[in-house]
Amino acid sequence: MSSWTTTPSALDASTQAFPVLTAAQISRLRLGSKLRKVEPGDILFQPDDTEVPFFVLLSGSMDIVQPDLTGERLIAKHGPGEFTGEFTMISGQRCLVLGRVTRAGEFLEISAAGLRSFVARDAELGEIFMRAFILRRIALIRGGKGNVILMGSRHCANTLRIREFLAGNAYPYTYVDLDTDKTSQELLDRFEVKTGDIPVVICNGRTVLRNPSTQEVADCLGFNLSIDLSQVRDVIIVGAGPSGLAAAVYAASEGLDALVVETEAPGGQAGSSSKIENYLGFPTGISGQELAARAIAQAEKFGAKMMVAHKVVQLNCKRRPYEVVLDSGSALAAHSIVISTGAQYNKPPIANLKRFEGQGIYYGATHMESQLCENEDVIVVGGGNSAGQAAVFLSQTSRKVHMLVRSGTLSETMSRYLIQRIADNPAIELHFNTEIAGLEGDTQLQRVTWRDRVTAETSTHDIRHVFIMAGASPRSEWLRGCVALDDKGFILTGRDLDASTGRTPLSSWPLSRPPQMLETSLPGVFAVGDVRSGNVKRVASAVGEGAIAIYLVHRALAEF
Ligand SMILES: Cc1cc2nc3c(=O)[nH]c(=O)nc-3n(C[C@H](O)[C@H](O)[C@H](O)COP(=O)(O)OP(=O)(O)OC[C@H]3O[C@@H](n4cnc5c(N)ncnc54)[C@H](O)[C@@H]3O)c2cc1C
Repeated sequence: MSSWTTTPSALDASTQAFPVLTAAQISRLRLGSKLRKVEPGDILFQPDDTEVPFFVLLSGSMDIVQPDLTGERLIAKHGPGEFTGEFTMISGQRCLVLGRVTRAGEFLEISAAGLRSFVARDAELGEIFMRAFILRRIALIRGGKGNVILMGSRHCANTLRIREFLAGNAYPYTYVDLDTDKTSQELLDRFEVKTGDIPVVICNGRTVLRNPSTQEVADCLGFNLSIDLSQVRDVIIVGAGPSGLAAAVYAASEGLDALVVETEAPGGQAGSSSKIENYLGFPTGISGQELAARAIAQAEKFGAKMMVAHKVVQLNCKRRPYEVVLDSGSALAAHSIVISTGAQYNKPPIANLKRFEGQGIYYGATHMESQLCENEDVIVVGGGNSAGQAAVFLSQTSRKVHMLVRSGTLSETMSRYLIQRIADNPAIELHFNTEIAGLEGDTQLQRVTWRDRVTAETSTHDIRHVFIMAGASPRSEWLRGCVALDDKGFILTGRDLDASTGRTPLSSWPLSRPPQMLETSLPGVFAVGDVRSGNVKRVASAVGEGAIAIYLVHRALAEF
């Protein structure tokens, strides 16, 4: 009965998005549910509702629709044996759709919390529901069917910022490109939008945000609604890259009360990768955003809480429970902390770099950025793995990729398969001993000058897109004074803290036992992934350390 169905087979995504439950499965759901008689026209939930109940149709039927600016659009039809719900059931975010009964009948009703505990308890039904919720969310994203409209321009850095934030949170939205959409003037007039207001975000057809901060978008869409700020947690995980997401999955699945705080959208550096090909279990590769989306679903399924668009600016480390202080001024308390704030690309000292960020200068190469430079020449700066990956990816859609490498060779750490692909790719031109000397343009980058570091010769090129992927620094500035860092700012852990290394005398270590592996100079505070001194800077090692840290958190909590 679903709106996607043509001739379904068991492997069809449509069948799995709208499965019909068996009598045995329904009878398991009766426990903990209540029977509800429904009449045509009854509205069971609508956009913006929170903690929406879950319904299983025993008889009767209902439509799932989404109000839009012109009325409403049909998303799906449910009949007997089918069930309602989408990924917001698990994440606890606001509902995106309206459910209206079309034929009288009887429905089983289960509270949102009841459904979440059912998913954790019943492996078979848990898998059916999770798969359906994820597939339904993917369909909403692909169809641009969300309760939010983003009106922006491809020449606007803030449009790109918000698109990346929504995509990184796997949140469906309708994008109106003001450069090409002929009907956009009507929308602009209707919401009285002026040029300086762009990008404009319309939440739920009501609230209009003009050039909003990422935090304003998150608040308007209720991303952090279900977070109780007063709760003292077992563990707070700072940063939702691969290491933080792994820590969240293991913490929540092992029964710890875990909260992840992420300043942007989950995914970290890996989220800016078009394809990760060396992560175990994905022989054809996986995009960083897809890997992150799967990890978020997994962590939230087990009950981890995710707070996005909030930066941790300080750690209050004088006493336990420790407190992480957010940019909003709020402080969140926890008995243990996992620091997984990773690293960020160094910004080379080039005049005008900041001015063109998002308008020709990019620090990630995903599908989103590649769309902006189709059939044009682009520059990738850097000679390491991430630069190589970006060059190969961008060469599929760009006319030519100029790879500028400061030294005379590609980095020793670049994977062999990438070196080979670059060498075999006629669309990639390598320029060794070369660096950018100048950037020019009005609002959008238009010309780049590069310099040969050996001959000092310069040349200027009409190139409008530069991807900077050279050298990264740890994001540990918020920790100074609390945990010991190495001379580059990476966090020292475990045996590296030993006084015998001569680097960090452990005079202030208060316990009789030495720090555990991955434990910082503060008991119960752990560092994992790229932010940790000595880390290998790979997705697999980040994920491994996130998992190990939780094992160690249990020990630290036991002695607390
Ligand atoms: C383009 C690119 C391609 C790559 N390709 C590969 C590959 O193919 N294979 C591979 O193994 N590795 C690859 N890597 C490396 C890999 O992505 C990293 O090693 C990995 O992401 C590190 O994970 P992490 O969780 O430690 O840190 P990060 O991924 O850096 O995540 C840290 C997170 O913490 C957040 N954060 C930072 N500060 C704060 C704060 N104060 N408050 C709240 N949140 C904060 C950040 O926003 C970020 O989301 C690639 C990296 C890049 C950039």
